[in-house]
Amino acid sequence: MAIDIESIRNQFPILHQDVNGMPLIYFDNAATTQKPQRVIDALVKYYSLDNANIHRAAHTLASRSTTYFENTRKAIQTFINAAESEECIFTKGVTESINLVAQTWGRTFLKQGDEVLITTMEHHSNIVPWQLVCEATGAILKVIPITDSGELVMSDFDALLSERTKMVACVWVSNALGTINPVKELIAKAHAVGAKVLLDGAQACSHLEIDVQELDCDFLTISSHKLYGPTGVGVLYGKRQLLEAMPPYQGGGEMIKEVRFEKSTYNDIPYKFEAGTPNIADVIAFGEALAFINGIGKTVIAAHESNLLQYLLEGIGHVNESNNNMISLVGTAAAKISVQSFVVKGMHSFDVGMMLDAKGIAVRTGHHCTQPLMNRFGLEGTVRVSLSVYNTTAEIDVFLEHIGKLVKRSAGK
Ligand code: PLP
Repeated sequence: MAIDIESIRNQFPILHQDVNGMPLIYFDNAATTQKPQRVIDALVKYYSLDNANIHRAAHTLASRSTTYFENTRKAIQTFINAAESEECIFTKGVTESINLVAQTWGRTFLKQGDEVLITTMEHHSNIVPWQLVCEATGAILKVIPITDSGELVMSDFDALLSERTKMVACVWVSNALGTINPVKELIAKAHAVGAKVLLDGAQACSHLEIDVQELDCDFLTISSHKLYGPTGVGVLYGKRQLLEAMPPYQGGGEMIKEVRFEKSTYNDIPYKFEAGTPNIADVIAFGEALAFINGIGKTVIAAHESNLLQYLLEGIGHVNESNNNMISLVGTAAAKISVQSFVVKGMHSFDVGMMLDAKGIAVRTGHHCTQPLMNRFGLEGTVRVSLSVYNTTAEIDVFLEHIGKLVKRSAGK
């Protein structure tokens, strides 16, 4: 099915504005995606008509908001093909989901000398939580290296993997490089030595089809704001058996069965991990975001984004041909999503970002919360273009025109 880009763009009010006197070109989708009108409307509707605290109450508004809230859980279950909706826990986002696993599963099951494997291309949110739990338990953090093109060195992964490995925590798709990691192979190999696998799906969730049962991952973390939904909502998927074996993350209302001063008992999953009043409105609006994606279809989105990446790469190639290869690409893996990092010789990435911003073009610059990855490439940071369902080749043309001029000016310095 061909994508109807105009009708998609028309659903995003934010895109139809000028920034610094130029039409906005939003190329910062890996940081956060924009929200379609139906997501914005869902927030307004909830607070205008349905607002009530969920669960336990006897009145109509509470039962309505509970139904809508739990409908999103069912939508998530379908979206990732979990066996049960109870395996989907609402959190604040990927960062909180990973911390939850590190602090509950990690503190319970890791001991002195155990090993946790991560990769060189992890976001800080899949590094620091493991460092914290390793410090607390005496477990050891080990890192799978990557090649110059930004792919995992699988032979090194094989060598690092052993009976000591208890957890492989790996980014499915790199936010800085766009690399799609061979997670199915990683999972099968990790399971063969008895290790569990957590996938950071922050970037994968909006670009790739997700089937947790087919993958057989133990944990998957995703985030609403990368999926055209509101900020402050994410999901931790975990296999029932593992979630049941883990202690609660936070104590409070909703996560208990019975509270006594001597001892409390805990609720069943998912509620055991959902202490306190959750982010009800945003969870409900997240459901609308999922409906938006399902309405287009992941394969249609992926095909469009892959065409955009191809178009961008060819365009950068042309700019380089006439400018002595002034643009160096960072992240050239064979399997990639529509994210491209680069540096312009002789220019600080922040200056490139500021100059593009003056033309209404929003890109991200800096270390992208992946400092160890930047160190691997000997860089302080990069400029990152990340393309999404509502971006067009016409926008890429404008970007190429301006980056071409910048590069020319820099070359002439
Ligand atoms: N992991 C990756 C790969 C990301 O790109 C991000 C966000 O940029 C995160 C983790 C953190 O996600 P969240 O903002 O949902 O906490």
